[in-house]
Parts: sequence; structure tokens; C-alpha cells
Amino acid sequence: MKPSTPRPIHLKDYRPPAYLIDKVDLDFDLDPIRTRIRSRLSVRPNPKASARREPLRLDGEHLELDEIKLDRRVLAKKDYKLTDTSLTIPKTPSKPFTLEITTFVNPQANKALQGLYRTSNVYCTQCEAEGFRRITYFLDRPDVLASYTVRIEADPNEAPILLSNGNLLERGTLDSGKRHYAVWRDPFPKPSYLFALVGGDLAPIASSFRTMSGRLVDLAIYVEHGKEERAAWAMDSLKRAMRWDEVRFGREYDLDVFNIVAVSDFNMGAMENKGLNVFNDRLILASPETATDTIFEAIESVVAHEYFHNWTGNRITCRDWFQLCLKEGLTVFRDQEFSGDERSSVVQRILDVRQLKTHQFSEDAGPLAHPVRPETYIEINNFYTATVYEKGSEVVRMIQTLLGRENFRKGMDLYFERHDGEAATVEQFIRCFEDASGVDLSQFRLWYSQAGTPELVCALRYDKAKKKAELEVEQVLPATPGQAHKKPMHIPLRLGLLGGNGHDVALKLDSGEELADGIVSVTKRRQTFRFVDVPSRPVPSLLRNFSAPVNVTIDLPDRDVELLMAADSDLFNRWQAANSFATRTLVEITRLLAQGKQTARGARYAKALGATISTDALEPAYRAELLKLPTQADIARVIGKNVDPALIHRAHRRLAKLIGRTLGPLLEDIYGAMAEDGPFSPSAESAGRRALRNAALTLLTAQWGPRDITRLSRHYFKATNMTDRAHALFLLAAYGGAESARALDDFYARWKGDHVVVDTWFAAQAQSPLAGTLKRVEALTHHPLFALTAPNKVRALIGTFAATNPVQFNRPDGAGYAFVAGHVLMLDRMNPQIAARMLGAFRSWRALESGRRGQARKALQRVARAKNLSSDVQEIVSKMLEA
Ligand SMILES: [Zn+2]
Repeated sequence: MKPSTPRPIHLKDYRPPAYLIDKVDLDFDLDPIRTRIRSRLSVRPNPKASARREPLRLDGEHLELDEIKLDRRVLAKKDYKLTDTSLTIPKTPSKPFTLEITTFVNPQANKALQGLYRTSNVYCTQCEAEGFRRITYFLDRPDVLASYTVRIEADPNEAPILLSNGNLLERGTLDSGKRHYAVWRDPFPKPSYLFALVGGDLAPIASSFRTMSGRLVDLAIYVEHGKEERAAWAMDSLKRAMRWDEVRFGREYDLDVFNIVAVSDFNMGAMENKGLNVFNDRLILASPETATDTIFEAIESVVAHEYFHNWTGNRITCRDWFQLCLKEGLTVFRDQEFSGDERSSVVQRILDVRQLKTHQFSEDAGPLAHPVRPETYIEINNFYTATVYEKGSEVVRMIQTLLGRENFRKGMDLYFERHDGEAATVEQFIRCFEDASGVDLSQFRLWYSQAGTPELVCALRYDKAKKKAELEVEQVLPATPGQAHKKPMHIPLRLGLLGGNGHDVALKLDSGEELADGIVSVTKRRQTFRFVDVPSRPVPSLLRNFSAPVNVTIDLPDRDVELLMAADSDLFNRWQAANSFATRTLVEITRLLAQGKQTARGARYAKALGATISTDALEPAYRAELLKLPTQADIARVIGKNVDPALIHRAHRRLAKLIGRTLGPLLEDIYGAMAEDGPFSPSAESAGRRALRNAALTLLTAQWGPRDITRLSRHYFKATNMTDRAHALFLLAAYGGAESARALDDFYARWKGDHVVVDTWFAAQAQSPLAGTLKRVEALTHHPLFALTAPNKVRALIGTFAATNPVQFNRPDGAGYAFVAGHVLMLDRMNPQIAARMLGAFRSWRALESGRRGQARKALQRVARAKNLSSDVQEIVSKMLEA
């Protein structure tokens, strides 16, 4: 039987569950191809549901049902109804009852990596969002909270380590040592998506943490044997995150143990299962030789993120999947704040904003745009998006900006106090901040329901005689799928006015109000803010610290932008000024190239950049961010229509070359001065020096002269850490030739035995803008170390090609699109979630020039026409093609 065409699910149709499950006892008998699961559920009718008794309908997929007992009585086939996705019992007692269900699953055959599966001989689960229904029949929805006791039995040779959520109750051996078992109990009620089980032969690194109330918590990270040392940074990050959450939010850990397991095949980055986080091993394992600084940072942030979920996600969970941003947006905000406190807050803000613009702004501008809280979905797995996560975080940040840190904390405290142990909604979350601060957030709520990136069109007028400056702001809300017209939003706009000397002018509104924090609330379509006592024509510094996820447009002459770059007291905005100067220069060069004109445009930008980065008072990590040009995807997004990625690529190279030439001696100095010969440290300061040195190297190399190649090759072979080595490898791979081949061969020889590190070798080749890249990528899909069943390999090779190689993915002949579409179809047969992700590479296809647009449409139509598509891919491709 095939499930019928998947139907959309709507937020407005939410109903409380007809039944509740208070207690779950699970018994796993682990076997690679036939694992038996016995579940005993304490079920009762939900007193809050409609009085009319409804049949009990449990979710279940890919299960072999063995037996069902209701209050110990075995049910006959006529007593229940079984489909491919459900088990329905029409008649149930009116009082609480016990349901015992025995099912079998085949972990070895599970390539979707949802539910219980095997990866490198380790049993592992992934239940968010709807994987638990692949383990047993259940009310698999986040508003059914139960306490779990889990018994796991296995072959001790195959799975000496047996883990589940909560605290270990008991363990022992059976059958004179042929089997062994462990019993885990989690006292905190949780939804099924937070269930986890791991069984395998893994090596732990152990430590402990003393909580603020003095309890001792055992910590362990389980990894592949021989890789224990590489888990030290993750352990260090975990302890710092635990302490930070106590200090910043008053949140203490609540179980006796906290376990993390690293596995090699995982659909996501990591998963916050209560007391047992499961991680993609590329986000746990790090040593100076194997991981770049970016990976060290990512480990710190993701370990913290998953840990922070213990309160924002686990103790308080989501009522339904439409509320996903309630846990994700909030927890991303928390991990960003943590990273900002642990590192440089301005650099962190720049990195987060870059990420937001590249991924979320592009999503918001295309056919996949959706509100932070979507109102309808077909496949929830498709909504783990930049909008829910990154924009969701920005929305929480705006609440903090509007309320101030103190009131924000009060609102958070109230949220924890009011909703601990519950499945909550966005409305309840917002209400806590209103109640704690007295601030009315009713218009602000639109951020959760209106999609698209607002644009603030600004103009500044100055009246010299009256010493008055007027800032006119118009908010433009672009149409998005299903939302043609929008209401004006509540946008916190943080700003400053710079006097001629570059110093901030005191902000006094004509109402007499003084803006100490520089924040005005834009709430109308058109609004004018009048500032008095402004001694001379000021230069506006708008959207300081990126106070809202919006685009700001204002027509400023080059000299004003140069003043902002040189003198703005808000460091974020100094970077933002440089970034928008670079953006407009690149857009201009692209336009001139399209007209067939030669151009030397960019000299003025290069000069201003040189002046700013030579300021030694600015930390290296920050100067590195200044030296990085906007990505080609960012330029494409700003151009917005008839995009020719090849022209943007040429413009990008031209500007890099010009900067390299103009600032050559300065860049050489930086390259020399930032070299370190002491022992490696993953600290933010050391990483910042490496980042600055590598950013200088990138621009120096843009000439591609023989000296540059020699320097680059030396940078590769002399590298003492992966940051430098990988940086040089990507640049060499982009250049091609003998030096590139030599470095790639060397890298492969060093790391072919390491399934995590070798992904860098795949990615470096996939990202090369050279003409032969597609052929090479195709060949690499047949490489013995590549496997379509391994998500990390797919992401490293096909994902890198589709998402970060704009020139070759967007080949005018459409071969790049055809390649990716073909692989989406192959992937869809085993792992629909990853297939749908890969398809996301087409999200900006409508903005392309007509030739490429036609080719992309052809590729998408081919996917749409294919038979037996998963609902995941079906939903994405139909949205992409909708007019
Ligand atoms: Zn999360």
C-alpha cells in the first residue's frame, strides 16, 4: 500500500491530542538486521481534548508489527487498523490503560538515517522531527510529554557501550556473558523527538562539572577509538557553555550525567536529545593538524547550542512543529551570545550577519521564502531553514534590543518559571516579555508571520540655519509567496550621527527626548525622525550592530562612507560601511563588464580599505573580516535579476586583483607580521592572527604571478596547522596547474585514512571555478571514499559544488544543474531529507539571466516529473516551480 499524496498541515488546524501518554517503558533487543522493540505505554484520554471519545491513532512507519496488548489482552487483527503510516485502535477504555506493542526494525537497511540506524557499526537514533515513529507506534508529536525508562540489550562485543537519555539505573550481563544490558531512566517528561539510544564500541573521554548549586555532573564524550584526544576541545567548550548558561541566564543542568556521542553518518549537525546529545563527528573532533579554526569555532558553538537546548527546547518544548523557531531561533540567539562573550563580540556579530545575509536573505528573496513561524507545511524536515534558525534568532535579538538586557533577562526568567515542563507557543513566549517589561509587542509579532526581508529606504536632510537633521525612513515590504500585501512592521533602528570630526553627535529628538541607546522604533510605512542641536551636516550611521534583519538603502557619497569606515564609533558599522562600499563597487564593475567595458573601478575602495586595515588598534580577527570581499552570492542577491554568475565572478577577481596590487606592500607586511611560530592555540586571538594572515594571502595571490604561486605552495607545505593548510589548498585548487595537483595529492596521501579530514580534499576540488571542475566532481562521485549514503560526503562534494561554486554550478550549458538534479533523484531513493537539502541550491534560480534560467527550469522540471518522489523533494520542487 502506498501512502496517499501527502497533504499540507496547517497551523490553524492545531488540536490538542485526544490522548496523553504519561509513562513509556522501552525494551530494545539490538540486532543489526532485526532489532526487537517492546514498548509499554501508560495512556489516558486527554481531559483537555473534546469530550467526544476519539479512536486512538498512533503514528508508525517502516515497522513490522508483531503484537499489541491492551491492558494485557492481546488484540486481534479486527481490533485495530494498520496502514503504512498509522495504527488505529477504534475502541479504548474511558479510564487510563496500558498498551504494549512489539515491533521489529532493520537498522542496517535504514539509509534515511531517521529512527534507529547503524553508522560504522554503531546503533544510533535520530528522532527529530518525526523519527520516533520509525521505532515504535506512538503519538509522535511534541505536545505529548512522557517520562521514559529504557532497557537496552545487546551483544557486548558488538556494543559494549549502551546509552540512552537520563541517568543510568542498572546494568548487567546475561546468558553467561553472551548478552548484556543497561537500564536508563529520564525523570523529566519529554516529547518523543528527544528520545535517543546509542549502542556501540566507542571510546569515552570523561570529565565532570560542578553546577552552581554544588551538584557534580559526570560528563563524557564518546568517539571512535584512537580519536579521544581530538574530543578535548569539545569537552572544554561544553564546560564553558554550562558555566555561561548559569551566569547569563541562571540555568543549571539537571541530570547526574551528560553524554555526547559522535557518529559519522548524521543528517544534521547535532541533536539535543535529553542528556544524550548525538553529534556529527565533524563537529566534535578537532586537533590543530586536522581541524581549521572555523571548525574549532563551530564545535564550540554547536556544543553550546545543543547544551542550551536543555532549557530552551527540552525543559520547555514546542507545542507543535510550527513553533520550531521557539526552540531554534531562541537557542541560536543564545549560542551567538555565548560565542560573542567567549570571543570578540563584534567579530561574532559580523560572522553571524554574513551568514544571515548569504543564506537567509537569499531564501527570503526566492520561491522558498516563508515566515519565521510557517503556517503550513507538507514535510516538516524542509523547515529546518535559515529563516527559522537565523532570522528566528534575529527576532529574539530585536526583543532584547527593544527591552534592554535587564528586562530581556526578566522576560526569560518569567518564561522559564511559567512554562517549565510544558510545550509552549510563540504567543506565550512573547507574552512573558510583555508581562516582564510592560512593553507592547503586538505589532512586533508580525516578525513571526510576515515573510520577506524589509527594506528601509532612508534619506537624511540637514538644515544648517536651524541646526536640524531629518531622517526620513520608508519601510518597503516585498511580496513573498502567498503574501502579496503586508502590514508595517515594528523595526528597531539603532543609529548614530557622525559630526565632521567623526565623533558621535548627541541624539536629541525634537520632542525633547534624548536617545542614549540610539534606538528609534520604525513602526509606520513612512516616518521622519527630527534631530535638533546638530552643529554641522552629519553623516548617518544606520542599523548599528545590525539592529534588525533588514536592508538599508541610503544614498551616501563616497567620502561619507570613507568617514564611516575610518571613524564610526560602532565597530560593526565600520565593517558594514566597508562591506557596502565593496558591494556597490562590485555591482558597478559587473554592470560595466556586462556592457563590454573595461574598468579600473575600485581604486577608491582599495585606498579606504588600506587606511582602515593598517590601524593596529583594531584586532586582527576584525581586520580579517574587513579584508574579505562580499561573496559572489551576496552580489547576485543585490543585483536581484538577470544575474550572470560568470560576470560577477570576473568582477570579483578583478577587484581582488586591484586590491592586491594597490595594497601589496601592506598585505606583505601583514603576512609577515601575523606569522606565528609558537605552539598552536585555538584561542580567538591566535585564530584571528591566522585569519588576517590568510585573508592577506588571498588578496596577494589574486595576481597569480609566479612568486604568488611559490608563496602559496610554501604556505601549504610549511603549514603546521589545518587552518593554513586548508586555506592554501582551496586557493591552489582554484588556480589549477602542477602546484595544485601536487598539493591535492599530498593532502590525499596524508588524510585518505581519515574520513572526516578527507572531506576537505573533496570540497577543495568541488569549489574550484576552473572549467574542468564538473567533470572532476562527476569522477569523484565514483571515488572509493565517496558514498551517496554518507551525508558528510554528499555535502562535501555535491553540496560544496552546488552551494559555493557559483561559476561552475551555473554553467551556461546547464550541465551543473543537470548534475545536481540527477543526484537529487538518486539521493531521494535513500535519504529524502538530504535530497531536499541539495535541491535548495536552486533557490535563487528565478533571478538568473534568461539562458541559465531556462536551463535551471529544465533541471527542476526533470525532478518534478520523476516518479515516486518523497514528500520532502516534492514539496521543495513544486514551490520552486510555482509561478
Ligand atoms: Zn537547535
